[in-house]
Parts: sequence; C-alpha cells; structure tokens
Amino acid sequence: MEGERMKVEYCIRCGRQPDEKDQYCTHCGAPLQNKCTNDGGPLGDPCNKVNHPQAAFCAQCGSPTVFKKTGLIMSPYEQGTKAEIDDLDELKHFSHRFFKDT
Ligand SMILES: [Zn+2]
Ligand SMILES: [Zn+2]
Repeated sequence: MEGERMKVEYCIRCGRQPDEKDQYCTHCGAPLQNKCTNDGGPLGDPCNKVNHPQAAFCAQCGSPTVFKKTGLIMSPYEQGTKAEIDDLDELKHFSHRFFKDT
C-alpha cells in the first residue's frame, strides 16, 4: 500500500482526469473528493472525513457523503427503499450487507 489515496483518479461523472489539487471537476463541476456532509450542526464539529468514492454514507458518522448528496452515486439500500415492493429481495440482500456487523 502506498498510502491512502481517497481522491478519485477520474471524475466520477464525466471521466475527466483532474489535477492534483482540484477539488471539483472543471468540466462538469462534480466534487472530486467524497467528503462527509456532516457540518456538525449547531455544535460546529464537522466530520470532514473523506470516504471511498463508492461510499454513499460516511464511514465515520453515517451522514450522506457529497457524492451521495449531489446524486453522483446512489445507496443501493435507498434505491431498494424507493422502489418499495418491487425490489424486496434486493432490499433484503443489501440490508444484510449493511447491518450485519459481526
Ligand atoms: Zn466531471
Ligand atoms: Zn462523517
């Protein structure tokens, strides 16, 4: 392992390769770091964790990530919830993956 590099190599939306210091894609405006959106609320203690590009929710606090909030990625679990009855099997599958901790 050569250090944790959470920054995406390519824009998740349009595929452009960003510069090292870019925070947002200069082609489509998509965020390039999948940061936690938890701003800490009134207590002012933001999470700021940068999650994996595929993470819909913050691994640290469970808040939606930027990619999730901007619609770049979808939580499979939430997709199942929205489809309600149609995808019940899928929903079961994903709730297992998400909530089975032991
Ligand atoms: Zn882009
Ligand atoms: Zn967080």
